[in-house]
Amino acid sequence: MFTIKNYVKVKDLEEAYELNQKRNNVVLGGIMWLKMGSRNIQNAIDLSALGLEKIEETEDSFEIGCMATLRQLETDSRLNSYFDGAIAESVKSIVGVQFRNTATIGGSIYGRFGFSDPLTCLLVLDTYVELYKKGIIPLSEFVDMPRDNDILVKIIIKKDTRKVSYLSYRKTATDLPVLTCAVARTEDGWLAAIGARPARAKLIRDERKMLGREPEEDEIAVFQSFVEENTVFKSNMRGSGEYRRHLAGVLLRRGIRAVSERGE
Ligand SMILES: Cc1cc2nc3c(=O)[nH]c(=O)nc-3n(C[C@H](O)[C@H](O)[C@H](O)COP(=O)(O)OP(=O)(O)OC[C@H]3O[C@@H](n4cnc5c(N)ncnc54)[C@H](O)[C@@H]3O)c2cc1C
Repeated sequence: MFTIKNYVKVKDLEEAYELNQKRNNVVLGGIMWLKMGSRNIQNAIDLSALGLEKIEETEDSFEIGCMATLRQLETDSRLNSYFDGAIAESVKSIVGVQFRNTATIGGSIYGRFGFSDPLTCLLVLDTYVELYKKGIIPLSEFVDMPRDNDILVKIIIKKDTRKVSYLSYRKTATDLPVLTCAVARTEDGWLAAIGARPARAKLIRDERKMLGREPEEDEIAVFQSFVEENTVFKSNMRGSGEYRRHLAGVLLRRGIRAVSERGE
């Protein structure tokens, strides 16, 4: 059980940032992960009065406030029609609706959990995180940055013509995933992200152009071998590294075929 000595509903991001510089102070998202721990928190920093729970569409992007819940991402018709339903697919197996009504995208992405479904999915989109002090950074960089005391303000997903597919494998519905896989085809070619390896999702770009726009089975097999050989898979209670490597190949093939079948 965790304990909170003092609860602060901040009036602006500067106040949140200042408070967050002390080791025993903690920013609150939906508190679903935090409450599983046993931290003694001096000041709990609540961002809920800052209007950061909105999902906004602009001409060239979607901007998702850090306090938007996973359920908001799942049910937002603009986001999901734009990205082929992949974002909804990436959160729909996370525990249950009541849980997703509380867990936030800010807590999910800031946490950079090794099992994260939405992190895997957002990596194959043109996604950026806006940090209060460090500014706007591509998610592909943020994923490998060490944790610090900045505040994740919003997630920005640029609109483009990419097609995308998200898949995960779980032993039982709503359990943590054994493996996650997202695939996208952009104007420049293909990319894939593999997560729950069990480590932070890894983005792999088809820089050698192994895959054509609508790849044949032999092209898919070459890319699959490349991903399997260049990705580290490890073992834990949910599965062995070898099993994960096999699953990655299966999900990757399915994802590439699903994107291909959608045409241009
Ligand atoms: C039982 C259980 C099962 C789960 N299953 C899955 C699953 O299958 N797939 C999956 O992808 N995820 C899963 N999750 C993770 C979950 O989806 C959320 O990612 C997680 O709960 C964190 O979101 P939160 O809003 O609850 O964050 P919190 O618990 O409130 O915070 C998490 C961390 O992020 C920090 N933080 C929060 N918001 C910000 C911010 N704006 N700026 C800076 N730091 C911030 C907090 O200080 C804390 O360190 C599971 C979690 C639990 C507890």
